[in-house]
Amino acid sequence: MIFRQLFDKKSSTFTYIIASDKGREALIIDPVLGNVEQYIKLLKELDLKLVKVIDTHIHADHISGIAELRDKTNCITVMGDQTPADVVAMQVADEEKIEIDGLELQAIYTPGHTIESFSFLMNDRVFTGDALLIRGTGRTDFQNGNARDSYNSIFNKLLKLPDETLVYPAHDYKGEVVSTIITEKKFNPRLQVSSPEEYIEIMENLNLPDPKMMDVAVPINLNLGIDYNKQKANNGIVPTEFNKIIKDKRSVLIDLREQIEINKEGVIIDSISVCFPKIKGYLKKNKEILNDKIILFYCAHGHRSTLAIQMAKSIQLSNCFHLIGGVKNWKNKKFSL
Ligand code: FE
Repeated sequence: MIFRQLFDKKSSTFTYIIASDKGREALIIDPVLGNVEQYIKLLKELDLKLVKVIDTHIHADHISGIAELRDKTNCITVMGDQTPADVVAMQVADEEKIEIDGLELQAIYTPGHTIESFSFLMNDRVFTGDALLIRGTGRTDFQNGNARDSYNSIFNKLLKLPDETLVYPAHDYKGEVVSTIITEKKFNPRLQVSSPEEYIEIMENLNLPDPKMMDVAVPINLNLGIDYNKQKANNGIVPTEFNKIIKDKRSVLIDLREQIEINKEGVIIDSISVCFPKIKGYLKKNKEILNDKIILFYCAHGHRSTLAIQMAKSIQLSNCFHLIGGVKNWKNKKFSL
């Protein structure tokens, strides 16, 4: 495994690059917009292909780099499924797995700091976002934070992990870089409590000022997805229209999602599965045949299918459309899977 911990001095944010030696696929957790060029340079130096980028939650203290990384590398953006807007291409539920070639992360829903906060467990280490910090815990006084949820997430989920599990948080302000579950159990001052009420009492009396960037960062971070207009501008069509073209004999219907999403949501009948990271290779390989076809892409929310349209056009396959809003929109409009 390849593992790098990077630090953004301005916001005291940790960003993690994780990759497998074999497949050379990489994922990034909690990227900061201002450092995107640094990540891309490092990925190149390490000979890695970025396939996924994760935000643990909607950050209030910096602008996330997920959209910039998506636009520059065509990677899949990921968050937990409690995220308030269609910010990302793929949403994972509690206990679901996120896969890249040779590596697997398990999503753990850990609300409290914010309502959509997730942690991610990978073998001997857990990426806790702001749910659990080194000798601290994420504040719970904004973005639908809740001190009782924070207590439950920490005591009933994170502290139940094996004692030796390494804790990698999204921030540190005092120069620490990593901790363990047992060390936090013993020495984190906020965890030396005997009841949820005692913890809530501490959290409700922190009296912290709002983060400097909050009014700027939160609205921007909530709008990093590929919105309706952009999806439409990239040959996006609504479910009724999409359904009509599916019936055309020349159409090829391509599902860009991963097996885990397909198992959960089902598929549109007669579609073939080509998961997004493989789509460019597929289009190039089958270009001759596809030239005479109408290509129809779909995914979960219309993000990956928008990027697939751009890829198809870049190799002169222009007779292609995609489903605005993906499977979510398809189901909302009462089309079946
Ligand atoms: Fe935060």
